[in-house]
Amino acid sequence: MKVSRAQIVVRGLANCCPNCGSRTLFMPGRLFRINPSCSACGFEFERNNDEGFFLGSMSLNYGVTLVGYLTPVMLLAFFKVIGTTAAVVLAGVGAVVFPMLFYRASRSWWLMNYYFFFPQHLPANGGKGRLGEDGNV
Ligand SMILES: [Zn+2]
Repeated sequence: MKVSRAQIVVRGLANCCPNCGSRTLFMPGRLFRINPSCSACGFEFERNNDEGFFLGSMSLNYGVTLVGYLTPVMLLAFFKVIGTTAAVVLAGVGAVVFPMLFYRASRSWWLMNYYFFFPQHLPANGGKGRLGEDGNV
């Protein structure tokens, strides 16, 4: 059965395998460890031929932290809603804690982002799930 772009987005937002939809993206009981492959369908999350693939998730994490957390804290301080000291403490603590809390979502969202644009690369859609399998990449 083919996987639609809508299904890829829903699975990405739910931290699920983009290929089969199982909750197998992360190792059970481990917050920051992604499974090398899906235990339900065998789809490989970690790409041995492309170590830099998940650098995009780090950029996504950085951007969301900056736009979604640090900018609002700075605006609250700018408009005198909170004091400068509180803003500095919130920004300092949040700059470390927010990316940790967003880590899992950023990995999943990056995978979702890739397969949203290249759904034909999913094994369920007839692809091999690998970078460079067609002329689009
Ligand atoms: Zn799967």
